Amino acid sequence: MLDKLITTHDLSDAELLRFFSEPQEEAPLFAAADAVRREYYGDEVYMRGLIEFTNICKNDCYYCGIRRSNSHAVRYRLTDAEILACCDEGYDLGYRTFVLQGGEDGFFTDDKICAIVSAIKAAHPDCAVTLSIGEKSRESYQAYYDAGARRYLLRHETADPVHYRKLHPAEMSLENRKRCLFDLKAIGYQVGSGFMIGSPYQTPETLLSDIRFLQALCPAMIGVGPYITHRETPFAEMPPGELHFSLRIVALLRLMFPKALIPATTAFASLHAEGRELALRAGANVVMPNLSPVTVRKHYDLYENKVCLGDEAAHCRGCMERRIASAGYRAVVAVGDSLV
Ligand code: SF4
Repeated sequence: MLDKLITTHDLSDAELLRFFSEPQEEAPLFAAADAVRREYYGDEVYMRGLIEFTNICKNDCYYCGIRRSNSHAVRYRLTDAEILACCDEGYDLGYRTFVLQGGEDGFFTDDKICAIVSAIKAAHPDCAVTLSIGEKSRESYQAYYDAGARRYLLRHETADPVHYRKLHPAEMSLENRKRCLFDLKAIGYQVGSGFMIGSPYQTPETLLSDIRFLQALCPAMIGVGPYITHRETPFAEMPPGELHFSLRIVALLRLMFPKALIPATTAFASLHAEGRELALRAGANVVMPNLSPVTVRKHYDLYENKVCLGDEAAHCRGCMERRIASAGYRAVVAVGDSLV
């Protein structure tokens, strides 16, 4: 199966189901994934500055710690000036990509988002702006693009309609999520999608549909990470995703999508002290250190035991560079476009 993955970058449905059902030998799998990432991206790991600018969300996804029904969440919004200050600090630290992430917060109208994107581009024209602010109309996505945003992250979370319904309330729909992703691609964004690994009710069959959906979408970035439980959700009693299974999925994705950017997500680091390094060695090639003000970080509480909550941006950068080097790679702060 590994030889076929390496040569064709694909597997049959039956082979993928076997991959998801049976433990694979990790050393040759990770070595093959590492060889592919080095063939396309060398030893570079791209660093993106993450700014979590609002934790207010109108949605109620059952797995999410900042869902609207969590009355214990301490809510915050950064002001435009605070967001720009994060970018300025990030720029001085060398970052050339800023990722603006938030819940679906109606306060941030399209005009406000466009003004923020334009202001960042005016202040730092050599930087890329990535948005991760959820499901919007095609017109909204076009307006953000016209303002200067060029990348958009929107995980599909599951491509299986029955599984989707178990993770999300009735007012949300998989059809709309998919519509958003294809609209973003049609406009010209570099699109990132992905899913949680080990989310409640996930099965080998739902994972198969995730892979096939990603093949249809052909995203520039694929973000995956182990599901981590949050106590203030309906899934409080559900077990988290499994680290080694999640690492094998990263390696599988690297081998199936050799040109994609694959982040070593914070969820890996939250599950294991060296989770990011392990994900890098399994084929990931992006990290997103946090540039948000330390005072609000703990409130962007998507899941429990999230790491790096108290570290200043400069510390995050230094720490991340050391971790990347210890894993055998080289940190790069350049814009770092996807090869897809
Ligand atoms: S996962 Fe995203 S859309 Fe869903 S509740 Fe959390 S922040 Fe909102």
